[in-house]
Amino acid sequence: MRVIFLDFDGVLNSHQSFNFWKNKRDQTKWENEMYSEWQGSLKEYLAMEFDPIALNNVEDLIRSVPDLKIVVSSTWRLGETVESLQKILAPAKLVSAAVIDVTPRFPGKPRGEEIQDWLNRHPDVTDYVIIDDDSDMLESQKDHFVHTSTLHGFQYGDKLWALRILGISHPLQKV
Ligand SMILES: [Mg+2]
Repeated sequence: MRVIFLDFDGVLNSHQSFNFWKNKRDQTKWENEMYSEWQGSLKEYLAMEFDPIALNNVEDLIRSVPDLKIVVSSTWRLGETVESLQKILAPAKLVSAAVIDVTPRFPGKPRGEEIQDWLNRHPDVTDYVIIDDDSDMLESQKDHFVHTSTLHGFQYGDKLWALRILGISHPLQKV
């Protein structure tokens, strides 16, 4: 099994996507709908404004690597279960279906330690990629880390880098 440790903020959304959706919608209408008609959770609502291109890039990764699963390392996991995270990600079906677990929470410690704890408990993992806009990973994880931009989220080039880490060459890498 291969695994992506997936952050959400700064990966599946970004300053760019916030700005895009803000300009797309009528703010007053959005707030009214949100508080009066929306039946789902706040996170499910906010996830509808994830960056469709970033989600598509994650879907491409999953299509390219058949045994690839997602472990959620984002703070979005707090107070959630695998099932509720799958529901939050439901608009991106492939991404949603690939979620199998979350990392533990060690308050005040680097995210890299939470990821390492999960890896230590799963010796069946043959390779992994950490996708995050923060950089508090361990030195030993450096070669498995795709550092996204908080401004732009998970871009096409980031996807190519993730594929390269997983040992899958992509025709465009040669260009
Ligand atoms: Mg983040």
